[in-house]
Amino acid sequence: RAKGEGRNIYKVYVEFMDEQNYHSFLLERDLRKAIANEEFVAYFQPRVDGRTGRITGAEALIRWMHPSLGLVSPGEFIPLAEETGLIIPLGKWMKKKVCEQLVIWRESGFPLLPISVNISSQRFLQKEFAEDVKELLTQFQLDGKWLELEITENSLMRNEEYVLQTLHELKEMGIKIFIDDFGTGYSSFHYLKKFRLDGIKIDRSFVQNISCESDNAGITVAMIQMAHHLRMDVIAEGVETEEELAFLLDQNCHYVQGFYFGKPCSIEEFEEKFMKKIIAKG
Ligand code: C2E
Ligand code: MG
Ligand code: MG
Ligand code: MG
Repeated sequence: RAKGEGRNIYKVYVEFMDEQNYHSFLLERDLRKAIANEEFVAYFQPRVDGRTGRITGAEALIRWMHPSLGLVSPGEFIPLAEETGLIIPLGKWMKKKVCEQLVIWRESGFPLLPISVNISSQRFLQKEFAEDVKELLTQFQLDGKWLELEITENSLMRNEEYVLQTLHELKEMGIKIFIDDFGTGYSSFHYLKKFRLDGIKIDRSFVQNISCESDNAGITVAMIQMAHHLRMDVIAEGVETEEELAFLLDQNCHYVQGFYFGKPCSIEEFEEKFMKKIIAKG
């Protein structure tokens, strides 16, 4: 019987794999079409100075409006896009979209906010990356300070010379660069020292329950102090509760992002909820 059971487990496993493969096959096919049809939407999530509640910027997060599945979150298609190289056109779409939005705001008299865009390491490591960004800024006549980039730790771990050169070029354009999901990748203090980046974003997994989970508290406090010593900004991601915010402020981590302040939302909603407030305050 044990043998039979083993076979069953094996069979279930194979079927599961097949279904998975089939699912990603369909998803990849749809994703290619989606790029051609521009089925994507940029959502914005505010970044806030936790001391005052003032908005200091926003992060652009991609959403896919699938014709039959509805809104698909990036967790479901970014990994596939990375695998298939489709992340390259997706990333280009997003950066352009953000620049277009900044121009719309500028022309309609909204005060501008820096908007950060997530950059896949594949894209970051392409030779023409910095040049493409420069072209985009020129095309839209935008100052680099309005476009911020979030890269991950593994983007820094390749060809050191290339990375230094790219970071240098981006810095020349006035673009700020943050390490996203800090602490979850192959963090190396060497890279932090070597590449003078503008800031880190502490991953949500460390911020969760920070006021009662002493491991998370210890790690986060250490990250905040280290970043400040290196004169880097710190943004805490995934702040959901008042207790988490209080803890972070107490540790001098002032910049925060999370559901407590606002979920990612459509640009219209973002303007309604957050930008009109800035205008009202003057
Ligand atoms: P990320 O860059 O670390 O973005 C933060 C994620 O955390 C977002 O998930 C956001 O909705 C979520 N989040 C923010 N605050 C909270 C909170 O308080 N609680 C909880 N539970 N979640 C919170 P989202 O939008 O699903 O994006 C997931 C990931 O997909 C992003 O992680 C990023 O790595 C990737 N991604 C999203 N848009 C793009 C894009 O345009 N290009 C690339 N390359 N990657 C993207
Ligand atoms: Mg991010
Ligand atoms: Mg993150
Ligand atoms: Mg991420």
